[in-house]
Amino acid sequence: MNKEPIRYPITESFTSIQGEGFHSGKGATFIRVAGCNLRCPWCDTAYSFDLAKARWMNTKEIINEIKMPHQHIVITGGEPTLYDLGSLVQELHKRGKYVAVETNGTNPVPDEWGIDWITASPKPGNEYALACRADELKYVVDDKFKVEYINQRAVPEGRVFLQVESGRPESAQKAYDLIQHYPERCLRLGIQLHKVLKVR
Ligand code: SF4
Repeated sequence: MNKEPIRYPITESFTSIQGEGFHSGKGATFIRVAGCNLRCPWCDTAYSFDLAKARWMNTKEIINEIKMPHQHIVITGGEPTLYDLGSLVQELHKRGKYVAVETNGTNPVPDEWGIDWITASPKPGNEYALACRADELKYVVDDKFKVEYINQRAVPEGRVFLQVESGRPESAQKAYDLIQHYPERCLRLGIQLHKVLKVR
């Protein structure tokens, strides 16, 4: 019996530049999956929570209908690890794509999925726990953020980004101060380049 192909709830897709982290500045196509298991107060993608508003697409539809001019693909959310991403990643690889995923780190990311790059952004709603392998870590520096929350050993040196919360000057100052205070940690300031440039 043929198995029904897996469907993913897609909130939106668009091509822009990766505005954050190690791959910052690269042209990329973003595929945003709906649904999240957390509710961060400063979430800027809350519009992706509602599964009813998403379009459920199988891998073939995603590949055929979404324009992907660049090699770099970012599967983001919401929280993409709520779904088995294996077949989607496999098909993207067949087309020569490099597949990155952005996760809140609450779920494992199985090696079998074959994801090329994992950006994990542990969150206060989950006590900054990290349940997956990560290639880079991103922390939103809100008023309550502490350097002790950083899972320094989970990534190579220079792959921890302190992200300014919603462009707030207080958050930028705090991130700057942490970088100056803990030089041995090689922290990096995370600016959302796409917001500076006013692109998506
Ligand atoms: S984990 Fe990400 S998508 Fe989910 S609520 Fe927090 S910021 Fe929003």
